[in-house]
Amino acid sequence: MAVRDSLKTYRTKRRFERTPEPRGGGRTTTRTRRKSGSRFVVQRHQATTLHYDLRLEVNGVLRSWAVPKGLPARVGDKRLAMETEDHPLEYLDFHGTIPAGEYGAGKMDVWDRGTFENLTRRDEEPIPVDDALDGGQLTLRLDGKKTHGDFLLKRTGTSGRKWLMIRVHGKKAG
Ligand code: MN
Repeated sequence: MAVRDSLKTYRTKRRFERTPEPRGGGRTTTRTRRKSGSRFVVQRHQATTLHYDLRLEVNGVLRSWAVPKGLPARVGDKRLAMETEDHPLEYLDFHGTIPAGEYGAGKMDVWDRGTFENLTRRDEEPIPVDDALDGGQLTLRLDGKKTHGDFLLKRTGTSGRKWLMIRVHGKKAG
């Protein structure tokens, strides 16, 4: 599996002596191992502009998107989702206030969290979530405290960080 140079960008953007955010990359705890899998979090981030950060656990990091208007609520709704740098798994639990002057300054709360299921298929065969993301198209089912539904994350254009998050029809999540 391809190793992404994942947390380097995350760390470069932050000064950990000033921000309460986790540095990440510590030893994997028993708890983390036991609970590892396909978790997600949506954080409400009152930064310069209010937005929601969607993060999906993929290969030991959190793949992340900033969704200015929050998750699409109804089938057919589309929301812009800007891909951002990978975050460490410890960020699943992060809430707090990033001080003024620091990257992402503002208050961050956990809006929802839970697990997700990768529903992506190509030629009727399931494909792994990292391959789906590399290909710019991931269908997933979110099962959180607030969110129960199916979504398509689709990159717009051939490269770049701009994606759409679309609520799609699906079986009701259990
Ligand atoms: Mn954010």
